[in-house]
Amino acid sequence: MTDESFDVVVIGAGPGGYVCAIRAAQLGMKVACVDKRGAFGGTCLNVGCIPSKALLHSSELYAEARDGLNAFGIKVPTVELDLGAMQDQKSKVVKELTQGIEFLFRKNKVTALKGTGRLNGPGRVQVELNGGGGQELAARHIVLATGSEVAPLPGVEIDEQRIVSSTGALELEEVPNHLVVVGGGYIGLELGTVWRRLGAKVTVVEFLDRITPGMDLEVSRQFQRLLSRQGLGFKLATKVTGVDAGGDRLLVATEAAEGGEAEKMKADVVLVAIGRRPYTDGLGLETVDLTTDNHGRIEVDSRFATGADGVYAIGDVIRGPMLAHKAEDEGVCVAEHLAGQRPHIDYDAIPAVIYTAPEVASVGKTEEQLKDAGISYRTGKFPFSANSRARATGQTDGFVKILADAGSDRLLGVHIIGADAGTMIGEAALAMEFGASSEDLARTSHAHPTLEEAIKEAALATHGAPLHI
Ligand SMILES: Cc1cc2nc3c(=O)[nH]c(=O)nc-3n(C[C@H](O)[C@H](O)[C@H](O)COP(=O)(O)OP(=O)(O)OC[C@H]3O[C@@H](n4cnc5c(N)ncnc54)[C@H](O)[C@@H]3O)c2cc1C
Repeated sequence: MTDESFDVVVIGAGPGGYVCAIRAAQLGMKVACVDKRGAFGGTCLNVGCIPSKALLHSSELYAEARDGLNAFGIKVPTVELDLGAMQDQKSKVVKELTQGIEFLFRKNKVTALKGTGRLNGPGRVQVELNGGGGQELAARHIVLATGSEVAPLPGVEIDEQRIVSSTGALELEEVPNHLVVVGGGYIGLELGTVWRRLGAKVTVVEFLDRITPGMDLEVSRQFQRLLSRQGLGFKLATKVTGVDAGGDRLLVATEAAEGGEAEKMKADVVLVAIGRRPYTDGLGLETVDLTTDNHGRIEVDSRFATGADGVYAIGDVIRGPMLAHKAEDEGVCVAEHLAGQRPHIDYDAIPAVIYTAPEVASVGKTEEQLKDAGISYRTGKFPFSANSRARATGQTDGFVKILADAGSDRLLGVHIIGADAGTMIGEAALAMEFGASSEDLARTSHAHPTLEEAIKEAALATHGAPLHI
């Protein structure tokens, strides 16, 4: 028996799902959103973006107080780490933000259900409530926003104590002596730097011969140099073949990516961060004749419609970058489509940020992608060492790199490595969304002295006319 009918039922209350539910309700639809986690906000708020950024910030403050203040004439006699208090602060932030979603659901009259949702044939969602009991919902439209999970490493079993995923790495109660991070992507590097700053020896093992695959190679190389200077060790073109958890310390077996002699490394904690994969377990896709592609993703068209009538999918569970703001944008977009509007997402204007120190941020194409596509482009670069604000604050590492179409001057890609890169990339994303040229950026007045002036200078450099270098 169907308990209640809705215009839209959203399964998953991560950034994709909860934003979709709110937007659909704003547009006058009757909406329910169901999530099986005890707290709303999905991976991002509970075990992803937010707790990682909280720990990145506090560990940066700690390292700054310990090593960085002398240069500014500030003497701090002793700096002590209270890891418990640091973790409590992170948990408090997570709790406040996840409760904030409950408030937003109430405000927008979204029916929020804590339980596991399962498709039960066309237009039906069966919910097993976390507190016991079930409910069947009838829905004109169903939006699948079930997100992603940690990709497993064959032969290595995660126990979230000593062999951890990002979730366990956010909860460590002691600073490990030696942390081995498997995977040189952004999650491994962000969490690796957290524990490095708190005192761990950190070794990153990466299968490829470079870190951060997909990032502009020049930026990636500079990034690795800066991380090495902070004490992170790298074993590139190397694969982890197993972890022996039998003894007091872990024994991590590695060998060259293309095969070779096995090596063993002792570690106290191993973080498996080789990527994430779409999550559709127990979702009942078969009840509406849906299957996933060979990456486990639900296939959708440009309106996020799946092959099943009335069923849509957004966020990490479909193609595209696994990023919270991409999931949010899709949540808004699908709700507006359902309301008869015709919104559009420019996937080339979605920024990506790594929140290490310095930060790394990019939007648009990399130089390698432009070369592969045979597009002719001009490059403009400007180092922060020549930016007056960066010199005043001692944040001179890194540069801005702008790629513009050689013919039209339209911006094709902007890549920033440097302090506050994640904030600065907003200007570039906005410019790209509006189809700006590099000259538009160069002629926009930038306040002085700011780090953003490096963007203007890099834009000038694409025309061979930077002013301050
Ligand atoms: C450590 C870490 C750091 C990250 N940092 C960033 C960052 O700084 N910036 C950024 O943009 N992205 C970051 N991400 C990625 C970001 O978290 C994801 O891209 C984002 O959460 C995807 O949103 P989503 O709504 O698609 O799915 P999710 O956030 O994964 O939410 C899906 C929800 O669906 C629920 N669910 C699944 N199946 C069912 C079911 N059958 N019934 C009910 N509920 C179900 C799950 O419990 C989950 O709560 C990070 C990820 C990690 C792991």
